[in-house]
Amino acid sequence: MLSDFLTDLAARMAAVPERGAVADYIPELARIDPNQFAVSVCLADGTQISHGDADVPFSIQSVSKVFALALGLGRFADNLWIRVGREPSSNAFNSVVDLELEMGKPRNPFVNAGAIVVTDALLTARSPREALAEMLRFVRAAAGDDHIYIDEELAKSENLTGHRNWSLAYFLKSSDNLTHECDLTLGTYFHQCAIEMTCTQLARAGRFLAGLDTKHELISRNNVRSINALMMTCGHYDGSGEFAYRVGFPGKSGVGGGIMAVVPGIASIAVWSPGLNRYGNSQLGTIALEEISDALNWSVFDVK
Ligand code: GLN
Repeated sequence: MLSDFLTDLAARMAAVPERGAVADYIPELARIDPNQFAVSVCLADGTQISHGDADVPFSIQSVSKVFALALGLGRFADNLWIRVGREPSSNAFNSVVDLELEMGKPRNPFVNAGAIVVTDALLTARSPREALAEMLRFVRAAAGDDHIYIDEELAKSENLTGHRNWSLAYFLKSSDNLTHECDLTLGTYFHQCAIEMTCTQLARAGRFLAGLDTKHELISRNNVRSINALMMTCGHYDGSGEFAYRVGFPGKSGVGGGIMAVVPGIASIAVWSPGLNRYGNSQLGTIALEEISDALNWSVFDVK
């Protein structure tokens, strides 16, 4: 049974010694205890199974890029692709060199530069406060839970220490690919990264991408397909090929150690463990998803 399998998985993950390293370039994240692990799975019949530290809130970081893209595609449709590409990158999520090579057009909406451009687009005709309220409304509706908030301290700390993101924003500005001032767009971007959720909430929030939340159509089916394709090809940065090979379904990671992943039509899954592998993706979270995929034949590349 799935519940027994996940109980056993959570117990085994709790005992793994090689847990990866927490993201210490964000001071607030450097303090998180790496000895935590959570898994939560939502199924098509409406059931949800959670194990481990599934009710501990954590910073979703780059998982927020999925919600930003959902809102961006909803508002701007294909016009969004004028400003950001749809190709994976073999460079890190915060790469500057990619931007220079592509003359200021980020490779995809899931690397930092791409997400900063999407956030900039979301600020069209909205103040930062309105744009963030819109994003929180979306995430809360997706999760079916109003108790989802932004960690202001974390956003402030990233604002002070996120020098690489400042350099990306200035480069975008100099390439005419940022319509607002750098501090306005980045301030909004840092706040969206600082949304806090539990693993239970995150698994529920992914249901719209798995086609499980049929009551509320949050975005069109076409946009679901587009986002899943991008999560599969770009959701784990320069580790996306490895993730597709090992896990085989779309997923998006964040440096807080969370991953939201979907098996279309079957399940929405969230895993969380703060230690990261060399690509900045949760080390144990990836292993756990690989084990789930193997055990249940959930890779979309499996011949069913
Ligand atoms: N807020 C982080 C940053 O901009 C998000 C990165 C991530 O989760 N990969 O660096």
